[in-house]
Amino acid sequence: MYTKQELLDLYDKPLKELIEMSHKVTGENFDNNVEACSIISAKTGACNENCKYCAQSKHNHAEIEAHPLLDVETVKKAALSAKENGATRFCIVTSGRVPTGKDFEKILEMIRAVAAIPGLHCCASLGLLSEDQIKQIKEAGVERYNHNINTSKNYHKNICTTHNFEDRVNTVKMIEKHGIEACCGVIIGMGESREDRVDMAMSLRELNPKTVPINFLNPIKGTPLEGYEDKIDEEEILKTICIFRLALPHSMLRYAGGRTCRLSKEHQKLGIVAGINSLLVGNYLTTTGSKSEEDKKMLESLDMVMT
Ligand code: SF4
Repeated sequence: MYTKQELLDLYDKPLKELIEMSHKVTGENFDNNVEACSIISAKTGACNENCKYCAQSKHNHAEIEAHPLLDVETVKKAALSAKENGATRFCIVTSGRVPTGKDFEKILEMIRAVAAIPGLHCCASLGLLSEDQIKQIKEAGVERYNHNINTSKNYHKNICTTHNFEDRVNTVKMIEKHGIEACCGVIIGMGESREDRVDMAMSLRELNPKTVPINFLNPIKGTPLEGYEDKIDEEEILKTICIFRLALPHSMLRYAGGRTCRLSKEHQKLGIVAGINSLLVGNYLTTTGSKSEEDKKMLESLDMVMT
């Protein structure tokens, strides 16, 4: 198992060599299936938290189409359509610190409706849930819960001050304690250092999540991180994917937000060669994503199969 210093030193290797190393580790631990998941923003905007990257925070000034919690039927229809487009997992996502009261009851109904669709696994991303809420979503049918650490413990204060890194880590631990798979990842390109990125990988290694979504910051106008495009380039993104694969040989790595705007098609492929084995298909929360046909073609060209 690589130490923190060894992971940091890997950044100095040529990209080609790093990709060969991580490709080998991926081949030893996974087959050529790539998991496809899709998300719906069931509630968008009006969030009191102050995450600097997020278009949905009330503290920021991004222009988005905010909406209150959708109705159950709309979410069910979206889940069926995601399944038709090849997704095998469907994640119900809501903005805000945590849903409460009638909203939470309605979300439980949504979960039951999605979990009842044959061939589709229900995931959720609902913020900092209490232990009692975690038990209820598990009972309703959530198999996997997304809650990202986002950045390193040290850098977190630069990104958000309304909750802290430990709040996030404790939620992930509670999720795992109750037998729900953890999907826990990061956003890179927010001005963090290489050491921060390695620290993220080390924190994730301790949490041992089933999947690790890797988001690349898509700087949104009206957020404090607007104009952060130059904080990371494509080669550095690919090196980071390799280092995450080497640090986390048994977690699925997922392309999440930002891949289509921060990586060329050729570089997206190289990331898959290095170790990405899960894709978020369709649109993201407040930005446009990929077309599933294009993703299928990209995977075929690499002899990989979307499952
Ligand atoms: S990331 Fe989540 S918690 Fe943070 S501001 Fe956006 S919606 Fe709120």
